[in-house]
Amino acid sequence: MSRLAVAAACLVASLGTGASDAVRHPDVCPGKCDKAITYSLDPQFDEEERALIQDGMRVWERGTGERVCFVPGGHDLVIDKLERADDLAAWDPDWRHHIALTKGGHIWIVATRVDDPSEYRALVVHELGHHLGIGHIEDATLTYMHSTINDTPPELCASGRLPERDARAFCEVHRCTCAY
Ligand SMILES: [Zn+2]
Repeated sequence: MSRLAVAAACLVASLGTGASDAVRHPDVCPGKCDKAITYSLDPQFDEEERALIQDGMRVWERGTGERVCFVPGGHDLVIDKLERADDLAAWDPDWRHHIALTKGGHIWIVATRVDDPSEYRALVVHELGHHLGIGHIEDATLTYMHSTINDTPPELCASGRLPERDARAFCEVHRCTCAY
């Protein structure tokens, strides 16, 4: 897995949009795109990066039956590109070990450390998981939420499919009681 091998993603889980959107009645679930997350991408991302970020969003949208819904043009979530790892230092004391950070409605990606498209997408899926309030998951193999990005199984990177464990984690955080 090349240069990502030494890099953990982030330690700081964001309780971002949706954390308070609990489903209070067991028979009630959010409908498709009921609680859209508006987002803005740093203009410094190139076309390929933008496409991979939007791919990562689609992984969550499809995997949650569209309960997660990302809509361009707002600031619920701002994704920024950093050219250098030490640009993370302002927000992350452990920046030397990280290639991305999710915190308070922001995701920062250190672009220069990402060289494989499917790994890049997996990293985005991981950070979006934090934005959705999900922490690291170590009790399953098939998850995007391992604390170290190179523990993401290659078949997940390749498929771009949200595994059941991650969909369940979303459901637990958002107290969604519907079956997918
Ligand atoms: Zn993480």
